[in-house]
Amino acid sequence: MSEEKNPAVTFFQKNKTVCPVCETNFFREELLTGRGRLIAGNLTSELRRLYEPSQKFGSVAPLKYSVVVCPNCYYSAWKDDFLNPPKEKIRNIEMAMSSRIEMANTLFSGLDFRAPRRLEEGIASYVFALSCYDYFPKETSPLVKQGITALRGAWLAVDSHQENPGENYLHLAKMLYHKASFFYNYALEMEQKGKQSVGGCPNLGPDLDKNYGYDGLIYLAAYLEFHHGPDSDNEVRKKRLSTAKKGVARIFGMGRASKSKPQAILDNARELYQVLADELGIIDADPEKDAQEE
Ligand SMILES: [Zn+2]
Repeated sequence: MSEEKNPAVTFFQKNKTVCPVCETNFFREELLTGRGRLIAGNLTSELRRLYEPSQKFGSVAPLKYSVVVCPNCYYSAWKDDFLNPPKEKIRNIEMAMSSRIEMANTLFSGLDFRAPRRLEEGIASYVFALSCYDYFPKETSPLVKQGITALRGAWLAVDSHQENPGENYLHLAKMLYHKASFFYNYALEMEQKGKQSVGGCPNLGPDLDKNYGYDGLIYLAAYLEFHHGPDSDNEVRKKRLSTAKKGVARIFGMGRASKSKPQAILDNARELYQVLADELGIIDADPEKDAQEE
C-alpha cells in the first residue's frame, strides 16, 4: 500500500516559508505523528528505526520530511538550519542552483517539492542538503550533519530500490553509503583533533526517534568504515579498521562506565567489535585493553 493513497499523514503549514537564498515563497509539508500513524518496529544494526505499516495509514516514512527544500532553487537544509545559511555564502548557494538542478535531472524525474513528498523527493532532499552543507560554517558542525544526511538518504534509496528494483536506486544508495562513511569518519577525526566539534549538531540521531549521541557517532563511523569504506589499499584498510576497533571497544569495554548506555548501542558495538577483530585476524581480541589504548 503506498502512502499517497492513505489520508492525513502530512499537512502543509499555514504560514509561508521564504527561501533565504532565492526568496521564493512556499508551504512546508509536515508529518502528523499521532493516532497510530507511526508504529515503531525493529531497530537495525545501522541504528535505523523501522516502522510497521498501519491498516489505516499505510506505510509512513518520517525521514522524508526532516529536510526543508526550496521548490525553486533546491537549496536544502535541516529544519533548524534552513532559515540561517551563512550570509556571506548565500550568493554561492544561489550560484550552485544550476548544479543542483542538473543533479536532480540526472538522478530523478519529475521532482515536485510543492506536492506531498514521494520517496523520490525524500531521497532528493538529502542529496541536495549533502551539497548545501558545504557552505555552512564549522560552528554548525556541517561534517557530522553531512554524514547523517548521507546515511538517511542511503536508507531511503534502499527503500526505493526495494519498491522499484529495476531502477538505479541501489547505485545511488551505494554512493550515499560511501559518502556517509567518509563524512562520519572525517567528522570524528576533526572532532578528536579539536578542529570541528560535533556540538553544533543538536541531535546525532542517526534516525529521528532517538539520539545515540557520541557513542552512536563512534559506532557508525566504525560500522560504515567496515561496510562502505575504501578497500583498495590493504594496509590502509587494516590501519583504519584497527582504529575503528579501538573506538568501538571504548563504547562497551569500560566496565562500569558502560552501564548507563542504551542496550542497543552496547549490543551492536560488541557485535561489531567481534566482526572487526575477525576481519583483522585477531583471535584473542581484548576490548578492555583496546579501550585503554590511545
Ligand atoms: Zn530558493
